[in-house]
Amino acid sequence: MADYADLLSRVEALAGSGREIHDPATGALIARAPELSADDLDAAIARARAAQPGWNALGDDRHVELLNSAADAVDANAETLARLLSREQGKPLNGPNARFEVGACSAWLRATAATTLEPQVIVDDGQTHAELIYRPVGVVGAIGPWNWPMMIAIWQIAPSLRMGNTVVVKPSEFTPLSVLALVSVLNEVLPADVLIPVPGGREVGARLASHPGIDKVMFTGSTATGRKIIESSAGNFARLTLELGGNDAGIVLPDADPAAIAENLFWGAFINTGQTCAALKRLYVHDSICDQVVDALAEVATRMPMGNGLDEANVLGPLQNKKQFEIVSDLIEDARKQGGRIVTGGAPAPELGELFYPITLVADVTDGVRLVDEEQFGPALPIVRYSDVEEAIRSANGVDAGLGASVWSADPAAARTVAERLEAGTVWINSHGGVHPMIPFGGVKSSGYGLEFGVEGLKSVAVPQVING
Ligand code: NAD
Repeated sequence: MADYADLLSRVEALAGSGREIHDPATGALIARAPELSADDLDAAIARARAAQPGWNALGDDRHVELLNSAADAVDANAETLARLLSREQGKPLNGPNARFEVGACSAWLRATAATTLEPQVIVDDGQTHAELIYRPVGVVGAIGPWNWPMMIAIWQIAPSLRMGNTVVVKPSEFTPLSVLALVSVLNEVLPADVLIPVPGGREVGARLASHPGIDKVMFTGSTATGRKIIESSAGNFARLTLELGGNDAGIVLPDADPAAIAENLFWGAFINTGQTCAALKRLYVHDSICDQVVDALAEVATRMPMGNGLDEANVLGPLQNKKQFEIVSDLIEDARKQGGRIVTGGAPAPELGELFYPITLVADVTDGVRLVDEEQFGPALPIVRYSDVEEAIRSANGVDAGLGASVWSADPAAARTVAERLEAGTVWINSHGGVHPMIPFGGVKSSGYGLEFGVEGLKSVAVPQVING
């Protein structure tokens, strides 16, 4: 088991004179992260290619054993990993944050080990016997964002390894240390070159995605970058799973009980201080209960402390980086100018630190205001009043994104009728954003394509092959 200093020094040993990584809560320098050159990246991909046949040949039972051992290694180092994650990403240790994320890493490793993709007999009529089997794709390039850096890396790594692929993983340039530390823990049990980290900037990501030695790209990040990866896949024919931006709508039906749903609404919107792909980002509430829902949400907000993540009292943290802080501030300012009513928050909290912005509820806004139409990815929630559910459904479906959505009602059948009309990869009822390792997850429209998790997730990192005869 590594302690914090040991884990950090392992990561720093790779570092050379790389990028400085600062704690978003305090601005303090944590460490320098390594930055790969194009040559380093080529060499890493070559090593992963060379290792892949041997890894596949170990067989499925051994892959399962090693994924479970990797989960044990994560558990043994959980607190150390969580502290590093909290310092680098900003999310508190407590609440549904850093410890929760590290716990999800081992849970996903175990669940992936426990999921099996069986060959499928397609035709067996006495004359023809046709089976669909699944072979590894080869080398998977895993490219991740900065909001849930460890968990999303595991979502990409675990199924890929299970199916006999090797993985080259490119962490976000904002949160490389967390992923490097996690990979170093996983590599305590994995054979050499099966999982290779390639830290670096956007250019490393672009080169990885377009590299001829990559067979599959698992990408989670912005829609703009996703488009570039789609373009580059025309060159190397890499198969793609794209988990892109969201602008999830929630629709609260008139029969919902505001007090009963308020806490689930709050965490649906503000888990990880709103920096979550499938967070609730626009809330449509029936006119008859809109004021009560706003008041109930504001009351929950007063009970959720924000501050330095290492302080056990806190459950909300800073924005992870200056760029995201500016996006959120700008959208809130614009909503105020457009007549939005600031119910809580509405101005930065410099007394907490440079990147802190309090939970901000903005009521009395409409579609067409940027805070509603665009992804804020931070601690701000616009609340739109509606009087006719048809209007709310039209609004929910009226943006390009289609990752998640939710319907809130005391009547599950009524909620389901609305849910089936929403253009989103997942629609939750009376909750928002929860993911589960056995339940497929993916977006529609500009939120991307391909599924992660469960059996469908294993198919995404395999190549189907028909054996006929
Ligand atoms: P981003 O697209 O800026 O960066 C993501 C990763 O892509 C980084 O590692 C970056 O270095 C790399 N990259 C940059 N340019 C590249 C290129 N041309 N080719 C290949 N890789 C490149 O996204 P971000 O700001 O880190 O993340 C925030 C966004 O991610 C939000 O829109 C959010 O909704 C989305 N997101 C989606 C999910 C999901 O599951 N759908 C999950 C988390 C975040």
